[in-house]
Amino acid sequence: MENILSGKKVAQKILNRLKLEVTNLKNRNVLPSLNIFMVGKEPASEYYSQNIIKKSKKADIIVNLINLSEDVIEEELITQIEKANLDKDVHGILLQLPLPIHIRADKVIMSINPNKDVDGLHPFNAGKLLLGKDSFIPCTPLAVLELIKFYEIKTDGAKVVILGRSNIVGKPLANLLLQKKMYGNATVTVCHSHTNELKEITKSADILIAAIGKPEFVSEKMVNSDAIIIDVGINKIFDENCERYKFVGDVDYENVREKVKAITPVPGGIGSITTTTLLSNVIKAATFFSIK
Ligand code: NDP
Repeated sequence: MENILSGKKVAQKILNRLKLEVTNLKNRNVLPSLNIFMVGKEPASEYYSQNIIKKSKKADIIVNLINLSEDVIEEELITQIEKANLDKDVHGILLQLPLPIHIRADKVIMSINPNKDVDGLHPFNAGKLLLGKDSFIPCTPLAVLELIKFYEIKTDGAKVVILGRSNIVGKPLANLLLQKKMYGNATVTVCHSHTNELKEITKSADILIAAIGKPEFVSEKMVNSDAIIIDVGINKIFDENCERYKFVGDVDYENVREKVKAITPVPGGIGSITTTTLLSNVIKAATFFSIK
């Protein structure tokens, strides 16, 4: 196995597959389309939306960005989502988070039709994932799974340690790798800010997945030499040497890379795959629609 696990290679392979799937759908007069709902001007959400739009053009998927003002009321956002739920030409709905504090995210998420919930946020999809049923898997855990498949990383019987238990990354990822199926069957440990003796746990991992949002937190002392490291973290820090901002992961890449069997870089790792897995969920939604 290569020492550096490239997310870009994984994304390109998925994109090639998506292009074929879009052609098949078009032959059945289905033009896959996604509505992105964004409230206000949160820079990370804007950046993500622009990336999705750029990537969607390569795959020939229609993306409509609905940018509502910062002070939009909850009911209006829900009304707009319900309109998209009923629109036969809209297959996927993505709600950009976080929302302003006057809007209850849980309530808005509940208003998304689960069959269009391409971010896998709706409790219906989260529950199906837990039960091992076919569902929309949130795009970051799905990106990790795609990387595991691409590099044929053995998860069966492997000791997987996940750092972070968020609803969007850590928890769904733990459920995915626990499933009784191919690229599952792992023994999963999920760690969080209350975990004791963290170093002992991370050191025992065959596969260590970091998703905590703490720049370069995982040091070479926390890993073993046979480990595969998957770094989900994306952190913007100021680089004193170059006097500019740069992105780093949750793993101290330069020092850990030397020690372990394989590692994903940041940038160029999991982050490069997530827009593509989101689009693969849009295709899945459009396919579901076309055979209904
Ligand atoms: P959250 O802030 O929602 O969750 C962070 C998790 O890390 C929490 O469970 C928290 O524990 C845990 N944690 C925090 N500090 C420690 C610590 N010192 N030791 C152990 N666990 C700790 O983050 P997200 O899941 O949303 O994101 C995690 C990272 O992944 C971020 O860097 C984010 O930018 C990145 N990300 C990358 C994506 C991609 O496409 N590549 C997409 C989404 C996120 P507790 O629950 O106890 O608070």
